[in-house]
Amino acid sequence: MTIEMSDQYASYLHDESRLTGEARSISFPETEPEAIEIVRSCYERQVPITVQGSRTGLCGGAVPCGGHILNLSRMAAPLSLEKEGDTFLLTVQPGLMLSALGNSLRARRFEWAFDCVDSGLEKEFKSGPEMFWPPDPSELTASIGGIVSTNGRGPGAFKYGSACAHVHSVRLITADGNIAEAVNQPDNPLFSAVIGGEGMFGAITAVTLRLSPKPPEMWGICFFFNDENSAAAFIDKAKSLNPTSLAALDFLDGASMKMVDELKKVAAKLRELPDTPENAAGAVYMEIHADDEAQLEETAGQLMEAAEELGSDMDSSWSLAGDEMEKLRLFRHAVPEALNAALDRIRQKNPEIHKTAGDFTWPESSFGQTVQIFRQDISQSGLDGFIFGHSTDNHLHVNLLPGSQGEKEKALSLMEKWLKISREQGGSLFREHGVGKLKKKLYAAAQPPEEIAAVVRLKETFDPSWLWNPGNKIDRGE
Ligand SMILES: Cc1cc2nc3c(=O)[nH]c(=O)nc-3n(C[C@H](O)[C@H](O)[C@H](O)COP(=O)(O)OP(=O)(O)OC[C@H]3O[C@@H](n4cnc5c(N)ncnc54)[C@H](O)[C@@H]3O)c2cc1C
Repeated sequence: MTIEMSDQYASYLHDESRLTGEARSISFPETEPEAIEIVRSCYERQVPITVQGSRTGLCGGAVPCGGHILNLSRMAAPLSLEKEGDTFLLTVQPGLMLSALGNSLRARRFEWAFDCVDSGLEKEFKSGPEMFWPPDPSELTASIGGIVSTNGRGPGAFKYGSACAHVHSVRLITADGNIAEAVNQPDNPLFSAVIGGEGMFGAITAVTLRLSPKPPEMWGICFFFNDENSAAAFIDKAKSLNPTSLAALDFLDGASMKMVDELKKVAAKLRELPDTPENAAGAVYMEIHADDEAQLEETAGQLMEAAEELGSDMDSSWSLAGDEMEKLRLFRHAVPEALNAALDRIRQKNPEIHKTAGDFTWPESSFGQTVQIFRQDISQSGLDGFIFGHSTDNHLHVNLLPGSQGEKEKALSLMEKWLKISREQGGSLFREHGVGKLKKKLYAAAQPPEEIAAVVRLKETFDPSWLWNPGNKIDRGE
């Protein structure tokens, strides 16, 4: 079951952060008993374990620091279907990819790992309204275990919040190789530790998801503006209108759109998209999830009126309904993809450069002010900067692409400055991607000592030997 590391498994030494680690062995368990056996064997020998899902993480959380890699991507089957009140609860293995979950829910067909699902309930599920799992970190190859461990969220967080709100409970292997279950209740310390816990407290072997009825009317919309301040002002306006059926409200600056246009030349899946309008310097990506057509049209009408007042030309806007709106999601998702591709080109010349990107919120500023401050700092620094992200709490993923060691230092000091503002505003500092190994220094600099002490206490409680995911977030002795 445990394989010694060799070149054949080299790709398991890194994730989308582009950090590379080291390990002595790797395993790919397919069932919980197999995973338990591996963990117990590591525990007996005090071998550290790094847990991996799909390795799409952006902070190096799944990059190993020696020891053993427990890769859970082959534990990818649905396990059971239950009902709590009106809510369907679907339990899945952690390695199930977001795309596979979505396909199964759309087709209402599951390849159950065990043949023990209540057939009456399955029939009710199939004949009822279509269900979906709202958290959407947009990277469709991400695993459910990874999403839960980073408490991921995507554009839809505007309406649905983070993954945590849509998880009923988790089952995990603890440090000593036993099984624990943690239910989503405010006073459950294990659940709070594990959700967003970046694999530091055990390996999740099953997640029970709370499903929601899929809204009958769904539209994706993109408005373009000739200057980014108008796009940002539109976001403030849309927030103040607060239509109940607005599910996503994301911002993209002109530089981000140009990156996507570049990526389109080589990425077949993006070719169906039209080019972004030539003079577009800012765009707003939205999703409307409505109960009926009237609600949808009311929200769309309000948004169109606000956008036109701010100079957006409706003839250049994009809108797609139902499943077609996946194309617009691809456009929004292509921004981080294009930036990662640009980073790879830089790293070919200078491998010391890593991703430098914000993942924090500025809840007390207006969206317009937030964009202006970022823009001013980026312009003054002379760095290549890209501003895009979510409107909720002004959660922008500002990416800086330094070309040299000197620029890397400049980029890091800007990140520190922005983190400080986030902290002063009571913002969340590491909102959806985690801390991992990449943001450890920033985390140590930004968090108050009492918060770091609280994480240490949790670690001592649930992993006294510090064997799980060494190197993530904090080191022993901090
Ligand atoms: C182009 C691109 C866009 C992205 N956009 C978003 C976005 O909009 N929102 C967002 O939230 N994220 C985004 N991400 C980041 C990434 O997809 C998420 O962090 C995702 O949740 C990670 O899932 P994974 O299966 O790849 O986890 P991994 O990268 O394998 O692991 C992530 C962390 O979770 C831990 N972990 C994984 N599985 C388990 C388990 N079963 N038990 C315990 N710990 C576990 C790992 O140890 C690690 O610390 C994006 C990534 C890319 C490449």
